[in-house]
Amino acid sequence: MANFDSFDRDHLWHPYTSTINPLPTYNVASAQGTKIILQDGTQLIDGMSSWWAAVHGYNHPVINTAAKAQIDKMSHIMFGGFTHEPAIELGKLLLSILPPNMNNIFYADSGSVAVEVAMKMAMQASISKFHNTRKTNFVTIKSGYHGDTWNAMSVCDPVTGMHKIFGPALNIRYFAPSPTCRFHDEWDENCTLEMEQLIKLHHEEIAGFILEPIVQGAGGMKFYHPNYLKKVRQLCDQYNIYLIFDEIATGFGRTGKLFAWQYAGVMPDIMCIGKALTGGYLTMSAIATTRDVADTISNGEAGVLMHGPTFMANPLACAIAIASTKLLLSYDWQYKVKHIESVMQQYMPVAKNYSNVADVRILGAIGVIEMNEPVNLAIFQQECVKRGIWVRPFGRLVYIMPPFIINDDDLKTLISQLLEIIRPI
Ligand code: PMP
Repeated sequence: MANFDSFDRDHLWHPYTSTINPLPTYNVASAQGTKIILQDGTQLIDGMSSWWAAVHGYNHPVINTAAKAQIDKMSHIMFGGFTHEPAIELGKLLLSILPPNMNNIFYADSGSVAVEVAMKMAMQASISKFHNTRKTNFVTIKSGYHGDTWNAMSVCDPVTGMHKIFGPALNIRYFAPSPTCRFHDEWDENCTLEMEQLIKLHHEEIAGFILEPIVQGAGGMKFYHPNYLKKVRQLCDQYNIYLIFDEIATGFGRTGKLFAWQYAGVMPDIMCIGKALTGGYLTMSAIATTRDVADTISNGEAGVLMHGPTFMANPLACAIAIASTKLLLSYDWQYKVKHIESVMQQYMPVAKNYSNVADVRILGAIGVIEMNEPVNLAIFQQECVKRGIWVRPFGRLVYIMPPFIINDDDLKTLISQLLEIIRPI
């Protein structure tokens, strides 16, 4: 049942929601494995992994044990002047799975903050290296999404993002078209032409190129060709531009590779991770850089990276991230993701025949149904709950990205119920 709790309705803001006319919310009592259990006992099969994060499902005994053990030692200690084992162990673990050129790690609080930090890093490094105070802007691609803080918003898609509302207050970035060469299509060189032109024209003002490798998430759920990234890397090298990969959504196996850069084999200078870093337990992100970026910043005028959050390297979050990452690496996640992909491939493309569906696309454990018209969220979610599944579309995009531990019965129910909801009558 939808919850119209008066306190929640009158006092609590939900994501992207009106306070005057809020969307219904459903009161969750607990969550276990791939099941979300509402206060009235209704069980929902999770199709969202709580926005890419809960890859192991909920209430996992291994992660719970790690969290409890760390709480009994210390939940938090400032990172200024102190260090601790969870931060060190997590750093070693991350460097063992991140691109081999990565060397330095900055722990931050959330994905959006990671993007802010990465952009600050690129700017500080650029000024330090090229002694050009004009070389401080950014280029990105349309249909991107990088978070809701100020600079993150400035590199989100200028139409579907929040540019319209914050337009005059946001820094003006350079936007290349969203790559037209799809992941599964034959490569077409023309796909990078406009982007190349843009860089040739403006490189003297550009410190960094930020993009989500292979999968554009909340900005359009589009999958593009790995060769696009090769071209981006080449141009960044040619024009002294720092390349930032935002792997906050794509990281930790979701696309079928542990990190999406592996599809193209090109490494960034700066990389952001978050979301599934803690298996969906706590908010935490990390920004990794090459030694060159780190040292260039440190050789610059400021001599330091100008960022230092209160909860930097929170030990509880670090301990949970270690447990979650080790857990992922301990089982055959590649097989699991491939299997989810093949079940989606088997059952979802039928929606292409529906008159209200524009496209169906699947990559790794991500299944997207693009509708012709925006979905009515309140009605859609009511239908989901009635049918025992949890899917949260945005705009015209209906997509699922279940926890990797989902079993076949639940996955098939999730897909079949979803298709029932969108099927035109
Ligand atoms: N980058 C990407 C690619 C994301 O998908 C998101 C979150 N959806 C963010 C950044 C922002 O992360 P957060 O919501 O943790 O601030």
